[in-house]
Amino acid sequence: MATYKCFFCGKTISTKALKERFSCPYCGSKVFFKPRTAIKRVKAV
Ligand SMILES: [Zn+2]
Repeated sequence: MATYKCFFCGKTISTKALKERFSCPYCGSKVFFKPRTAIKRVKAV
């Protein structure tokens, strides 16, 4: 499951919340980005 971050208030929003209503529930913005920290860490052993 992916999460997005609001470009304006910086809150994390799940894709599920965005599917219901494509706007930030906190500030109402419609600009989001994917935080790089959400990238899966791959272990190469
Ligand atoms: Zn926001």
